[in-house]
Amino acid sequence: MRISRYKLIGISIGLLIAFSLFFFIYLTARYTYTPTDPMIVETDKNLKIAVIGAGASGLTAAHTLNASGYKNVTIFEREATAGGKVCSYEYNGHFYELGAVYFDSVYSHTMLDLIKDFDVDYEDWNGPIGTFNMKGKWWFRRDMKETIAKVPPKFRAKFQSNQDSKKLSAKWNKFQLLKAYLNWKWILFKHQRTMVSTPGFPSTLSEMYPNFKDFAVTHHLVPMAHPMSVFMTACGYGYHEEIPAINYMKVIPVALARDRRRSCFKNGWQSFWQKVADSLTVRYNAEVTKITRFKDGNQDKIEITACGQTKFFDRVIISAPLELAHHFMTLSEKEASLFKKIRNFEYYVTLIKLKKSLNKDPNLPDQPLTGGVIDHIYPDTIGHIVCVLKSMHNDENVYTFYQLNNWRKSPDEMFQILTDDIRTLGGEIDEKAPNNGIIIQKRWTYFPHVSTKDLQEGFYEDLMDLQGVQGTYYIGSIMDFESVEHTARFSKYLMERHFH
Ligand SMILES: Cc1cc2nc3c(=O)[nH]c(=O)nc-3n(C[C@H](O)[C@H](O)[C@H](O)COP(=O)(O)OP(=O)(O)OC[C@H]3O[C@@H](n4cnc5c(N)ncnc54)[C@H](O)[C@@H]3O)c2cc1C
Repeated sequence: MRISRYKLIGISIGLLIAFSLFFFIYLTARYTYTPTDPMIVETDKNLKIAVIGAGASGLTAAHTLNASGYKNVTIFEREATAGGKVCSYEYNGHFYELGAVYFDSVYSHTMLDLIKDFDVDYEDWNGPIGTFNMKGKWWFRRDMKETIAKVPPKFRAKFQSNQDSKKLSAKWNKFQLLKAYLNWKWILFKHQRTMVSTPGFPSTLSEMYPNFKDFAVTHHLVPMAHPMSVFMTACGYGYHEEIPAINYMKVIPVALARDRRRSCFKNGWQSFWQKVADSLTVRYNAEVTKITRFKDGNQDKIEITACGQTKFFDRVIISAPLELAHHFMTLSEKEASLFKKIRNFEYYVTLIKLKKSLNKDPNLPDQPLTGGVIDHIYPDTIGHIVCVLKSMHNDENVYTFYQLNNWRKSPDEMFQILTDDIRTLGGEIDEKAPNNGIIIQKRWTYFPHVSTKDLQEGFYEDLMDLQGVQGTYYIGSIMDFESVEHTARFSKYLMERHFH
């Protein structure tokens, strides 16, 4: 039997479509996250629920519970105000952020929902953001021309992130760049939905358990990985040779997205969370010093002590750092063994008025400059500044400097490193000003995470199995990632899953 040429073309196209469909369905099924942890479901709306911490995660949890009809929710906050690591400071009539600075108003769905609920205005972050080296040379998007010229036009937009274009073009030829780009697209195709939109640590992402540097090598992403490492370290997320790729990959696709829009709050981000808190029952200046859990018949009961007063609850939701929970909670063996695996950094944020501002390339735009330090993305540079931020609302010489510490350097050593770094960058602190010109300094317990080995040994599966056991739920940045959207999103997800 002879088959005509047209039939043959028709059959080939049909086969191609069938194959593509099969491949698409296979990948969707293979890489879509289906939670498997056993689930405790609460239905009694009269439960007395305590939330420890009035940061983004605790407030979102309480707000979500209230919206589902749970009205007996009390938040304990050790500080006098709400917000936690969202912490704004007013100085000379301007608001400075000592904690979270901006959110992504395209991808932050939980934040956007809350903003709608509370009818709050936000604005675009319009200061240029770049990277710089300790010699004071800055790189911005507009400096990418050389690199971009090597990339085929259709792919160019994807490379317009903050990169050291000269180094990059010298090091990578257009085939390597294209290969990295195509590998990147493949990873996004397989995992984007799970990486970006699924709360927590789905085990389908286990190929990302190795550290980000190794992951970039094995997945041929190195040309894209280096600039992203500068961005991640600048945000305080440790070092690419230590941090599991799964942590970084929760943020990088959003950071590279073409439609990304950074947004912030003119009157300080904390004012937003304070508004959320004002709609809830919050006990301020109420540090929880003891939590005891016991059974009353077959009911879980929780005894909570704060400010010398003890109260009883049916459930407790903990947003305070789990690695410090042993200070105020008798832990089960399983909890103790999991919580001691959590590592974190000490993150120094120093708002300082300089006598002489930092050197600036005269060709740069005369706008406030914010950027990460290319030279300080390696663990042996710990203590040095990783980021400098200049307020976009103030043209004084007021800068915010960010430094990471592994808890081993003293505050005096950290200050010495800071002043040396400022001097190297051409700036000068005012030694005669009160407190050397330091307006305020915050030291945060920051970016809880676990090692590659602990991920491989099922840290998150074990932790999720504990949700609801002994009437206890865990939220906060260890459960997803250290950003406002991630912590808020996880809280909302967990509350909606367990409290019907
Ligand atoms: C310098 C810095 C910059 C950042 N930049 C950004 C950014 O630009 N964008 C972004 O999205 N995210 C950013 N983040 C991260 C973001 O701020 C955090 O991930 C998020 O705010 C964490 O919220 P949380 O509720 O989980 O924890 P927290 O905000 O730490 O809240 C925990 C709360 O618990 C309270 N607490 C602790 N122990 C007790 C106790 N025993 N009793 C009672 N209360 C207790 C604390 O006082 C605190 O209020 C930044 C953070 C920092 C520090």
